[in-house]
Amino acid sequence: MLEKLLEEFTQLREQTMMELFHDREAKKKKVVGIYCTYCPEELILAAGAIPVGLCGTREETISAAEQVLPRNLCPLIKSSYGFAITGKCPFFYFSDLIIGETTCDGKKKMFEIMSSLKPVHVMQLPHLREADAAFELWIAEIRRLGARLEVALGVKISDTAIWEAVGIIDRERKMVKAICDLNQQDPPPLSGLDLINITWSKGFSSDRREVLRRLTQIYETLEGGNYTHRKPGPRLLLTGCPVGMGSEKVIRLTEEQGGHVVAMENCTGYKRLELQVDTSTSDPYEALARKYYNIPCSCMSPNTYRLELLERMINDFNVDGVIDLTWQACHTYNVEAFAVGRMVKQKGLPYLHLESDYSSGDLGNLQVRIEALLELIGA
Ligand code: SF4
Ligand code: SF4
Repeated sequence: MLEKLLEEFTQLREQTMMELFHDREAKKKKVVGIYCTYCPEELILAAGAIPVGLCGTREETISAAEQVLPRNLCPLIKSSYGFAITGKCPFFYFSDLIIGETTCDGKKKMFEIMSSLKPVHVMQLPHLREADAAFELWIAEIRRLGARLEVALGVKISDTAIWEAVGIIDRERKMVKAICDLNQQDPPPLSGLDLINITWSKGFSSDRREVLRRLTQIYETLEGGNYTHRKPGPRLLLTGCPVGMGSEKVIRLTEEQGGHVVAMENCTGYKRLELQVDTSTSDPYEALARKYYNIPCSCMSPNTYRLELLERMINDFNVDGVIDLTWQACHTYNVEAFAVGRMVKQKGLPYLHLESDYSSGDLGNLQVRIEALLELIGA
């Protein structure tokens, strides 16, 4: 039963592709492409458009991207640009507007080049979380995005529509968190690959109510114990750069060697699952700004909430070790690895920092290092 539900969830991407084609032809529905967790997708829903995740997670387009971008750049940025320039991503093709953010240097400069392919709106994200002036700038940027969506999509975004979208996204996130939290059990009901299938695939849906219905079915099936129970094994937490289908090699290698990736703190995992919109405020733009400003990405300085979240997850998921994955040339996550490693070691747990790209060239090396970690844990 669970396997069938997960299989159907994996097919969301293909289904959405067909639906987008139909929606655009028949209902003239607009599509907005997004690349980052900081993008307030509630505003896109409130504008009556479909937000689709465009982050590149596969190697196949990187060589095309390297015709324009430097080789020594994070594979996520190169893959994303490669999908855009090669026309291999139907979601990019369908997008009426692309939204980017000034998170890391590579991404913000890539968006400048991408703007020759499609209309691109870049949100200026301040990186100093603890200053009032920085937060005021971020509220202004959320309002500027709303105004751009209204012009680009030819609509008026009402406060009522934003609050309605807030409710949809909050219910979805609560359900995803509830599913992820079931992995606090030992052995965990879901593999790391199942987790990534759920959290990554949902970003490709054109119908958020349908996604919630399916997520609820998965949750109830797990709650009811209606799945094949897994053997006990070492419990690992994955943190660091975002991972998606196509760039999941560290999860795959860990699980092939008997480890369980029970939780992911990264952007495809837990990073924003606890962040809910404060509905007691009357201004929905300010409420959205506050929620998204709290995302613990390494581009923020200081980024203390990431360490707090990680420490809590280590306890809640009762993990035996932490794997920290940095994509090559991602300086912010690479530098932050020092603080993460120190915190994990202070808790008396093994910590493995891996630096990699999307290629299969280092599979052997990764396998040896993950094997050594599992041995250290005593698998
Ligand atoms: S890691 Fe940072 S820049 Fe990358 S998707 Fe997440 S929030 Fe955005
Ligand atoms: S992984 Fe790092 S370098 Fe790559 S886009 Fe995200 S923050 Fe930027």
